[in-house]
Amino acid sequence: MRKLATIQKIKSLEPIANADSIEKATVLGWQLVVKKGEFRVGEACIYCEIDSLFPDQEPFAFLKPRGMRIRTVKLRGQISQGICFPLSILPEGYPIEEGADVTEVLGITKYEPVLPASLSGLVKGTFPSFIPKTDETRVQVLEELLRKYDGERCYVTEKLDGSSVTYYLKDGEFGVCSRNYELLETADNTFWTVARQLDIENKLRLGGNVALQGELIGNGIQGNKYKLKNQTVYFFNAFDIDRYAYLDYEQFVEVIRRLELNSVPVLDASFHLTADIPALVDMAIGQSVLNPVVLREGIVIRPLEEKNDLLGRVSFKAISPEFLLQYE
Ligand code: AMP
Ligand code: MN
Repeated sequence: MRKLATIQKIKSLEPIANADSIEKATVLGWQLVVKKGEFRVGEACIYCEIDSLFPDQEPFAFLKPRGMRIRTVKLRGQISQGICFPLSILPEGYPIEEGADVTEVLGITKYEPVLPASLSGLVKGTFPSFIPKTDETRVQVLEELLRKYDGERCYVTEKLDGSSVTYYLKDGEFGVCSRNYELLETADNTFWTVARQLDIENKLRLGGNVALQGELIGNGIQGNKYKLKNQTVYFFNAFDIDRYAYLDYEQFVEVIRRLELNSVPVLDASFHLTADIPALVDMAIGQSVLNPVVLREGIVIRPLEEKNDLLGRVSFKAISPEFLLQYE
């Protein structure tokens, strides 16, 4: 599970124009508003990311009017993402180590929107173990990795706000999965109906053991932000099941083109990675390629040639704060 709450140092504190009682803190690559004077630079605190869902008890009861959930907010013109607590909220004697994950001990869970029935479907089984689940790390926690890959040639795609889908063919068997489950074929399941409309099973039968992963968007999905009439899928991964490896960018694009499917919009196919987190978050802000009158959710950045690091695949997301302000 994502580390929602960790012990972190306050990296910097800066004044906010026209605000006397609050200031801007930087923790990891996150920026948030804190009460003036509550923390000092270099001091350790507990930092909780957006989408942290707190237990309804002290010292968190003040979050009740906000549904116990941490969202992106704007205070005096300053975007604020996350919340800091003093170490004193930890149980007595709890070991203080920078980076330590304190999500569980504080009873914090991740906010998950409830899926409509047409997306949850009938479960056939757990997610297949021979394919990685889709996921992206937030750029704000990747300072070290960014420094390591500074200058690396990357591609940038638009991050779509829909529902993750995995279609695979393995040893002659076609499978359809949502984010966490393999699904039974039923007439009213959107993952399956889109698979049939796009003829994905037959297309996958042209090749070997492979999985295509993408974002299902459209009517009935996540508020249909792109205002589509029906539903469709835009792919962002091609995975070679036999090699247990993702295809590099060029091969991914080639496979999607050959199968006459759509990839997520490519915003830049030759981006030199920078370690400047605020600049990457700025890059995330913009309009959607799919429908230029709406804000895009953000961007996903990956090396043109797949790389694996200690934390796994080198691939990460930057979410647009403007998008979060509008929709959360
Ligand atoms: P999140 O939606 O915040 O959980 O971020 C990770 C998810 O973004 C992945 O599991 C995908 O379902 C989804 N996603 C949408 N667009 C893209 C994209 N362009 N590249 C990779 N993942 C994407
Ligand atoms: Mn999403």
